[in-house]
Amino acid sequence: MKAISPHFSRHDFSCPCGCGFADVSIELVALLEAVFEHFQQPVVIQRGCICTHYNKACGGEYASQHLLGTAADITVENIPPDSVANYLEATYPQQYGIGRGDAWTHIDMRISAARWRE
Ligand SMILES: [Zn+2]
Repeated sequence: MKAISPHFSRHDFSCPCGCGFADVSIELVALLEAVFEHFQQPVVIQRGCICTHYNKACGGEYASQHLLGTAADITVENIPPDSVANYLEATYPQQYGIGRGDAWTHIDMRISAARWRE
């Protein structure tokens, strides 16, 4: 699969249902490259793009920016999720959605800042 940035391919963001939806935001990819540069560790996309069909099949639990290709749930190898969230909150204090999960960190490209713990 063709790379869309130094460390990511479009496939990394594709919908889990196999539909091929992978219209990931370039702004999001650029941010994830910055995460890689900061930690110098692989950034793994746990959930990227989610299509409306799959979202409905899952009871709408991802009804969010995942449908727009502007959100990702990520893990960074060897880095605790809270450390990833701390970095993102410190780096982008005025913008973006940042959600703290037990095993991953959610980041999305909303214009105003939103913070939560899953
Ligand atoms: Zn799908």
